[in-house]
Amino acid sequence: MQRRAFLTGAGGATLALGAGIKTAAAKPEHRWKMVTTWPTNFPGLGTGANKLAELIGEMSGGRISIKVYGAKELVPAFEVFDAVSQGTAEIGHGAAYYWKGKSEAAQFFSTVPFGLTAQEMNGWLYHGGGLELWTELYAEFGLVPAPAGNTGVQMGGWFNKEINSVEDLAGLKMRIPGLGGEVLKRAGGTPVNLPGGELFTSLQSGAIDATEWVGPYNDLAFGLYKAAKYYYYPGWHEPGTTLEAMVNKKVFDALPKDLQSIVLNACKVVNQDMLAEYTVRNPAALQSLLTEHGVDMRKFPPDVLLKLREFSNQVVAEIAEKDAFSQKTYASYEKFLKQAKEWSAISELTYLQARDHA
Ligand code: CA
Repeated sequence: MQRRAFLTGAGGATLALGAGIKTAAAKPEHRWKMVTTWPTNFPGLGTGANKLAELIGEMSGGRISIKVYGAKELVPAFEVFDAVSQGTAEIGHGAAYYWKGKSEAAQFFSTVPFGLTAQEMNGWLYHGGGLELWTELYAEFGLVPAPAGNTGVQMGGWFNKEINSVEDLAGLKMRIPGLGGEVLKRAGGTPVNLPGGELFTSLQSGAIDATEWVGPYNDLAFGLYKAAKYYYYPGWHEPGTTLEAMVNKKVFDALPKDLQSIVLNACKVVNQDMLAEYTVRNPAALQSLLTEHGVDMRKFPPDVLLKLREFSNQVVAEIAEKDAFSQKTYASYEKFLKQAKEWSAISELTYLQARDHA
């Protein structure tokens, strides 16, 4: 609240100096509700949604005013898609893999196990045809999508037993959304999808045996270290998850071109800004988990990762068989992934190895 007040105050003061300029305090022409899949003000994700609402307000000079609702405040987390589609809210913030029940192809627009990193995801979405496909898919549901945040590589999750072989995943009831969940199923586990706000109590009560969430910054905020013994990495299942904004298509189409541009470009700012925030917060939070909270961090053994990658390839290829649109999206994603792998092996990978060894 303090931050919002500060921004409004600062914006108002600056604009007041320019005589005759319509100020940020102008009466909004569009009052929107933003529903989100995150708890209110949740670090990174929820605050990213807040930032998007603030930016759209500032950039539009107050012509669009957005009130943000956390999960359950207006609708439950997993009803965000329907709420915006039906016009209960004008805009939403979430992640596309939550909507695989609407279309299996939606998952490609959030993250794919052993798939694209954040940097590569942005390449595919903005310049590799990804966003065009996403726009085509969401239009069927009366929505306009935009990338609006990225977590970077996530962590593998919280477990109460050691994972020494892929067999250790069998029988495990784990919160893991999207395609990662399907991979766990191949390994004999039971994936469940729960909104973030329910993870801690579910893990602590034993309703689930393990959970992944995001990474140190967010996992520390939920106190997951209090409910599990081992913290595994890497997040093979979410190598650079894109968060999404979705706008009701009728509402979006009725906006003048300048406001349409402002909404989409504000999403682009938040998409980049969130990744920058995670890049700063994760290392500090990890230090706190390891030194202050005594977390036992483990790396998944190579054999486990190899097996999970095999399952992932099967699971992802099978989506292509679901319907024509999924086939088209899979083909576009895989083509880009092949290209990205070859280039990243020469650029990022070689550089990171050289930097570590230097
Ligand atoms: Ca996750």
